[in-house]
Amino acid sequence: MEISFSEAVLKGLADDGGLFVPVEFPQVAQQFAAGIPEGMSYPEFAAILLAYFVGEGPIADSLGEICQNAFDFPLPLKKLGSGGVGGGSEDVSVLELFHGPTLAFKDFGARFLAEVMSRVLNTASQNVCVMVATSGDTGGAVASAFAGKNGFRVCLLFPDQGVSPRQRVQLTCWGGNIRSFAVNGTFDDCQRLVKSAFSDLSWNARFCLTSANSINLGRLLPQSVYYAYWSLKVKQSRGQAPGFVIPTGNLGNAVAAFWAKKMGFPIRELVLATNANRAIGDYVETGEWRPRPSVSTLANAMDVGNPSNMERLQNLIPDWQSFKNEVPVFSVSDFEIAQAIQKGPSAWGEVWCPHTATAVCAFERMTSQQREGGPWVLVSTAHPCKFSETVEPLVGRKLEVPSALSELLSRPVFETPIEADLGALLQAM
Ligand SMILES: *Cc1c(COP(=O)(O)O)cnc(C)c1O
Repeated sequence: MEISFSEAVLKGLADDGGLFVPVEFPQVAQQFAAGIPEGMSYPEFAAILLAYFVGEGPIADSLGEICQNAFDFPLPLKKLGSGGVGGGSEDVSVLELFHGPTLAFKDFGARFLAEVMSRVLNTASQNVCVMVATSGDTGGAVASAFAGKNGFRVCLLFPDQGVSPRQRVQLTCWGGNIRSFAVNGTFDDCQRLVKSAFSDLSWNARFCLTSANSINLGRLLPQSVYYAYWSLKVKQSRGQAPGFVIPTGNLGNAVAAFWAKKMGFPIRELVLATNANRAIGDYVETGEWRPRPSVSTLANAMDVGNPSNMERLQNLIPDWQSFKNEVPVFSVSDFEIAQAIQKGPSAWGEVWCPHTATAVCAFERMTSQQREGGPWVLVSTAHPCKFSETVEPLVGRKLEVPSALSELLSRPVFETPIEADLGALLQAM
C-alpha cells in the first residue's frame, strides 16, 4: 500500500498491521556534497532534508515553521578526552540529544509529530486521541509536545513498576488534555494494549485514535536528521565519516540512523548497544528472530523484548548474513552499565545516564581493530539526572537538575492504575 507522508503519520500502522517505510530513499546527501552551508541552522537543515519525504501539501508549505518550533533546543557534539581506553589516541565524541524539554532524545520525534499532526488533522470537528505505550521517555516527550494543544487528548500507558521516579513525574504532571495510566504489567503489555485498541474498530470509531509510538513515521524520520547533520559536520571537520554507537531498545533511533545512511550521508558504521534484552543480539548470533518477554534493567527505556522496528531494519537488510556482517550488536548487563556510570567521570570526564552507558560499554568492548577507520560518536539519549536514583550513588554526588525538570517536579501529579487488559482501559478512559 503506497500512501502520502501525512496519511502515514495519521494512520501510524498500515491496515495489514505492518509498518510504513519510505518507498525509496532520495540521495539527499548529494545536495550537501560541499558540506552544510555556513550559517545554516539545524531547523533549516531539517526542513530541507524532510522536504524530500513529505510530498506536496500543507506540511510541505509549513515545514520551515514546523522545524523551527519542533527543534528549538541545542544538540551539541562534544569531543571527549582520552577515555583511558584503547591507548586514548582515538577521536571519540558524544552527541547529546537530551537538551529538549523532557531531557531525552524522544523530544525530537514527539515535537515534530505534534507540529505535523496539528496541521493535518481537522481537530476543529473531532477530538483526536493520541495513544502511547511508553517504557519511560516517550510518554513524557509526547505529553510535553501535546500538552494544551487544542483538539488533542493524549493517553499514556506506562508499566507501573518500570519507570524511574523522575520519569514518572514527567508522565503524570500534565493534567488538562493528558491522561496517564499506570498499567499493572510490563512495557510489552502496554504495547499490546495499544495495538489491540488500534486493531479494534469500535475503539477507533469511538476515540478517533492515532499513535505516537516510534512506529509512527512522523517520529522516526525527524530522528534521521541529527545523524545526517552531524555526519556531515564531522566529515567536514575531520575529513572522515564517523561511526555511531547507538543505545537501542525498540530500534527507532537505530532505524533512523540506517535511513540517514541510505540517503547517502557520510555514516561509516552503525553499532548497536542493547541492555540485557538481547533479542537483536541473539538474532545476529543465531539467525533466528525470537522476541521474548522484556526484562527490567537499569536502562529502562530500552527494556523491549520484541522491538517493533525490527521489521523496518529487516526490510533494509533482509539477509541474516549481511545483517551479521554489517551490524555489530553488543548486549550490556546491568553490572556493566553500573560500572560504566561509576567510572564515567574518571575515564571520560562525563556522567552517563544508564542508556548512554550501554553505548559507552559497547565502545569499550570493541577491539582496536573494530574501532579503526575514523572518528566515533557515542549517542547520548538522556540526561543523567532523569535517573538520579541510579546514577547519584554510583558517582557519589548529587547531580544538578536543569530548570526544565525542576519546574515539572514541582507540579501536582495525576495517574490512574489499571490492569493490563483492554476492558480495564476502556472502563478507565
Ligand atoms: C527510547 C530510548 C532509548 C531507545 O531508543 P529506541 O528508539 O527505542 O531504540 C534509549 N535511550 C533512551 C534514554 C530512551 O528514551
